[in-house]
Amino acid sequence: MIDNTHGSTPKKPRKIINKSKTKVPMREQAPKDRVLNFEEVPLGYTEVEAHQEALRCIDCRTKPCMSGCPVGIDIPAFLGLVSQKDFVGALKKIKEKNFLPAICGRVCPQEDQCEMVCTLNKPERGREPGGIGRVERFLGDYAMKHNLSITPKVASPTGKTVAIIGSGPSGLTAASDLAQKGHNVTVFEALHKPGGVLFYGIPEFRMPKKILMREIEGLKDMGVKFIMNYPIGKAEPLDSIRERFDAVFVGTGAGLPWFLGIPGENLNGVYSANEFLTRVNLMGGYKFPNEADTPIKRIKRIAVIGAGNTAMDSARTAKRLRPEVVYLVYRRSRLEMPARVEEIHHAEQEGIEFNLLHSPIEIVDDGKGAVAAIRCQEMKLGVPDESGRRRPEPIEGKVRDFAVDTVVVAIGQGPNPLLSADCPELKRNEKRGTIEINAEAQTSFDNVFAGGDIVTGGATVILAMGQGRVAADAMHRYLTTGTAVQTKPEPESVCPNLL
Ligand code: FAD
Ligand code: SF4
Repeated sequence: MIDNTHGSTPKKPRKIINKSKTKVPMREQAPKDRVLNFEEVPLGYTEVEAHQEALRCIDCRTKPCMSGCPVGIDIPAFLGLVSQKDFVGALKKIKEKNFLPAICGRVCPQEDQCEMVCTLNKPERGREPGGIGRVERFLGDYAMKHNLSITPKVASPTGKTVAIIGSGPSGLTAASDLAQKGHNVTVFEALHKPGGVLFYGIPEFRMPKKILMREIEGLKDMGVKFIMNYPIGKAEPLDSIRERFDAVFVGTGAGLPWFLGIPGENLNGVYSANEFLTRVNLMGGYKFPNEADTPIKRIKRIAVIGAGNTAMDSARTAKRLRPEVVYLVYRRSRLEMPARVEEIHHAEQEGIEFNLLHSPIEIVDDGKGAVAAIRCQEMKLGVPDESGRRRPEPIEGKVRDFAVDTVVVAIGQGPNPLLSADCPELKRNEKRGTIEINAEAQTSFDNVFAGGDIVTGGATVILAMGQGRVAADAMHRYLTTGTAVQTKPEPESVCPNLL
């Protein structure tokens, strides 16, 4: 085990700079090969490539990238250490703020965060930002490859007990931070595998599960206990958990799928994206019946509705089940697609057929209760709506049928209602169904805190992690001083835009 007190800082200013305008390319599986397997698509940097990319950082004075990272990683410092080939030092530097670099390096929307504000980012001059996510991913993978266990130090036991409800990124971060502070932490998870969306939602070809399982083993080494198949609100009421533990964190996520409300959504062959991805990713439905018990329909022609990350994941997962055709149906244009640019690019490379400016109006019955087609209204863009995006408007008389046997609805998810239904006293936002918290991440119950998608609605991994950290700080104050309110200034641990 490596001492993890804190990461080092580069000793001397870097003199050598890689003046390349573009990022060091990352090797990938070729589209024709990767659609035949579930293995990861981008293959990651070698040591030489990571070093070359780190040398593109000009170590500018203003360091805007740091304010673009929701957990405030000292990006120039870790890139500086990589540029000196001090990979272990760089890893320690990242782990001061983010205990899941291999995961965030892969799934963070860097193009809207740290890389967007990078000084190098000048697309009008053909210059790309520093490949921050790629180098971060390299360091996370380096730790795995070299079996470096950078497990944080755990303080002496405080005698206080903490329950974490939900094992997604918010719950895992809160568990890690509270265990480090010496509290006795138990995580309760409704499913049989921990990780939340990281396990059941994001497919293997985008984030291999072994990375997540390794991080969870690290938490177990710190003394965190995991109780699986235990939905709070069903297996045990929240009130009982509140009595058994000194403090509780709720990180139950946004796992309630939304539907379109059009005729035919109850037909055989219609899945929510959550169900579809869970059947394939969590239950291994594509290995049915030899290696898995849960089946997934044999698909010939499939339409995925939506254009966010969940829709791209569903379409690309469907492609790997080897149907004749995968359609993506979206009512706006390419410009408005909310998915990451990289995911859209990968989906197109893999032969997903985009049908933009098409709005589903009916799922057509084959006469036996199964899907025969999806009927779509052709659209055009009008004036911008309240979201700032141009409003899609129907083109009269233009309706089109796509012959399919399967439809996946991937238009978003709402807050998971299980816990709140069992405990109506837990204050929620009436309209959105999210749990309400104060500035200390405290809910309407003194000893219950919350964070992640159950508070914000569907967001991102790094934001959920940041919220888990804010809540853990407040819970520690509550457990040690009796109040969650901060009475004296503490060193800043997260970016203020999370608060
Ligand atoms: P979750 O990850 O949803 O975890 C909540 C956990 O709580 C689940 O395991 C659930 O089973 C459990 N739970 C629920 N109710 C109970 C209960 N009553 N008792 C016990 N356990 C319970 N974000 C990105 O940054 N990049 C991406 O590329 C990206 N891709 C995505 C792809 C998909 C398909 C989806 C669905 C989301 C994606 N996101 C992405 C969003 C991101 O995954 C979420 O914002 C993040 O996982 C939220 O974390 P969380 O801890 O709040 O909840
Ligand atoms: Fe960028 Fe995400 Fe890493 Fe922060 S955690 S530096 S936003 S990739």
